[in-house]
Amino acid sequence: MRTDMDKITVIIPCYNEQEAIPIFYKEICKTAEELSGVELELLFVNDGSKDGSLKEMKDLADRDPRVKYVSFSRNFGKEAAMYAGLSYAAGDYVAIMDVDLQDPPGLLPEMYRIIKEEDYDCVATRRVTRKGEPPIRSFFARRFYGLMHRLSKTEIVDGARDYRLMTRQFVDELLRLGEYNRFSKGLFGWVGFRTRWLEYENVERSAGETKWSFWKLLIYSIEGIVGFTTAPLVMAAFLGILFCLVAFIAICFIVIRTILYGDPVSGWPSMTCIIVFLGGIQLFCMGILGEYLAKTYMETKHRPIFICKETNIDK
Ligand code: UDP
Ligand code: MG
Repeated sequence: MRTDMDKITVIIPCYNEQEAIPIFYKEICKTAEELSGVELELLFVNDGSKDGSLKEMKDLADRDPRVKYVSFSRNFGKEAAMYAGLSYAAGDYVAIMDVDLQDPPGLLPEMYRIIKEEDYDCVATRRVTRKGEPPIRSFFARRFYGLMHRLSKTEIVDGARDYRLMTRQFVDELLRLGEYNRFSKGLFGWVGFRTRWLEYENVERSAGETKWSFWKLLIYSIEGIVGFTTAPLVMAAFLGILFCLVAFIAICFIVIRTILYGDPVSGWPSMTCIIVFLGGIQLFCMGILGEYLAKTYMETKHRPIFICKETNIDK
């Protein structure tokens, strides 16, 4: 094998994907034929699947020396799987791709051409449609990106996928960000460099079903906000100042009214409402504070991001 060939590692995080893995493998082999002069490494990360995913990977690895796998001791989440993939990847270029073919492998040759010929460090993809997704999920996804855009200085692009091709330098810098609470869509933007965006229409899953419930996505989005902006803390402080101001005006009003008109005992219902309202605001702000504290607490433990149980890569 020629040594001056570029090597592309494709990282494929898999969680309970036994049906999707063979379909994916067939597709990526087709793509590999289009990528002449490139050595491909298919790095499957088994994120603690409970089905036969690992067996599928091992079968492929027996037949095809390009197939590598890293298997976790339990489910650590896609973020951890991507991080593991990045740290085991041997390629000069590294791509991340979902196994369900929602990240069309057919885009890879074009991505490789761009990163090779044009002056980019990363070629990323974004969906311009959300066809086939529950409308409520799309709605909240849009709100989230709108909010992030306003709150955070790091660029987080609407519809951005984790599907991207990166140079070795880009990957090495990503690996230096060893935080426990990972929000890759933000980390990609944070490291900077020059990114070219390719757009494509949403594709529906090839097999199996999505691993993301609405609730999981909501928690993930909070991770994103807490990880990439401290604006909510500032907002809480401003809210405090605002309420002090309102209270001050109200006190002046009541003092003056009492001097002018005396003090008839009234206003209990409104008083209760105000107390409950302010109590709510206080709990809300404490919640925000707690969220940041909790993330800090988790970071200070310095736990590993993933635990590898077995792999066919000698490191
Ligand atoms: N995935 C993973 N660990 C998880 C959840 C998902 O490795 O805990 C993988 C999954 O196998 C797939 C990719 O992440 O290859 C994207 O997941 P999914 O298709 O469920 O997400 P969606 O496309 O619906 O956003
Ligand atoms: Mg998917």
